[in-house]
Amino acid sequence: MNPVSTHYDLAIIGGGPAGVSAGVYASRKRLKTVFIARDFGGQSTVSEGIENWIGTVKISGTDLAKALEAHLRAYAGDIVDIKAGESVASVTKAPEGGFLVTTDAGSYTAKTVLVAAGSARRKLTVPGADRLEHKGITYCASCDGPLFADMDVAVIGGGNAGFETAAQLLAYAKSVTLIHKSPEFKADPVTVKKVLSNPKMKAWLNTDILEIKGDKFVTGLVYQNKESGGPKELPVQGIFVEIGSSPATDFLGDLVQLTPYKQVIVDPRTQRAYLIPPPEIASNARRGESDTRDVVRSTASVAQGLHNEAGGVISGGVWAAGDCTDGLYHQNNIAAGDAVKALEDIYLHVTAK
Ligand SMILES: Cc1cc2nc3c(=O)[nH]c(=O)nc-3n(C[C@H](O)[C@H](O)[C@H](O)COP(=O)(O)OP(=O)(O)OC[C@H]3O[C@@H](n4cnc5c(N)ncnc54)[C@H](O)[C@@H]3O)c2cc1C
Repeated sequence: MNPVSTHYDLAIIGGGPAGVSAGVYASRKRLKTVFIARDFGGQSTVSEGIENWIGTVKISGTDLAKALEAHLRAYAGDIVDIKAGESVASVTKAPEGGFLVTTDAGSYTAKTVLVAAGSARRKLTVPGADRLEHKGITYCASCDGPLFADMDVAVIGGGNAGFETAAQLLAYAKSVTLIHKSPEFKADPVTVKKVLSNPKMKAWLNTDILEIKGDKFVTGLVYQNKESGGPKELPVQGIFVEIGSSPATDFLGDLVQLTPYKQVIVDPRTQRAYLIPPPEIASNARRGESDTRDVVRSTASVAQGLHNEAGGVISGGVWAAGDCTDGLYHQNNIAAGDAVKALEDIYLHVTAK
């Protein structure tokens, strides 16, 4: 492990559209920055075709990842230190002021931190799922769909991602069975209707997955319908899991406020993270949760925070952008815009000192 590196103005965590946008702006504003990303491109790297990245009619996820990396490297110069392939393990307050960002390869201190770590896919946790991952269980239809040509496959999850996955698989598979645990699909009705009209498609509501079967490779799944009972077995060779994602914020500990879903709670005008959210934001963040302490639990650093107009206490040094925040909508363009907003505010914060 390297010793602690130079004191930077800014540490950016994440190499998706949010992190890269922040990196480009940091370079142009000449903020001495360490840019730490496990990889470039972010979640939509797996997408076959992105059609709403503004200014680009259509681009594959892998080409978007290449373009993002090239854009940052073209302007990084000696201002942005790119630490690609490193994974952040923790962000804490540094004793001498600012923040200590520790990765699997080193440590960096910075006056400010922008968290743009996005979300990671939620994994299937039933018996057999871990053992058979990449042996028939997959999380990416556009990457692995063709491997299952003329086979029977299942999709787990009834949201848009589940139905879009099913639509892709229908081009290759012999049959696709989509399994959803709730009484209604969460995907938009137009997509549901279109996908279900394919004769190779079946979809089950109210159905729980109990186990994945298979020795070396997946051979089937055990399920139980909440009305008709079970357990029963469905023979399939491929299982595509689309049960949502969870923000990659564990490395923050209790440095800033998180929702019960682990999203960083931010002031939407500036993207500053909250130490204590204003009451209205706190109650929105608690939606579906019962305990106020889940949200308002970190008061230790309140004295170093700044009150904002809405009545909360915002952090004096941590910003967040993109899918790791409690923003209502998550898209590539929004992630990039969040990050630009954050950089404008970080620049004012750093240069005002
Ligand atoms: C299959 C799929 C298709 C999509 N299609 C579209 C689309 O067509 N159009 C659209 O607008 N949106 C699309 N989205 C949504 C879009 O991808 C996200 O909104 C966007 O990627 C969010 O960007 P982000 O930068 O906030 O985070 P992410 O894209 O999630 O990037 C997070 C980055 O942080 C890094 N990271 C995470 N944890 C750490 C750590 N501990 N240390 C270091 N680095 C870390 C990751 O490696 C990654 O580089 C799609 C999403 C999926 C899953």
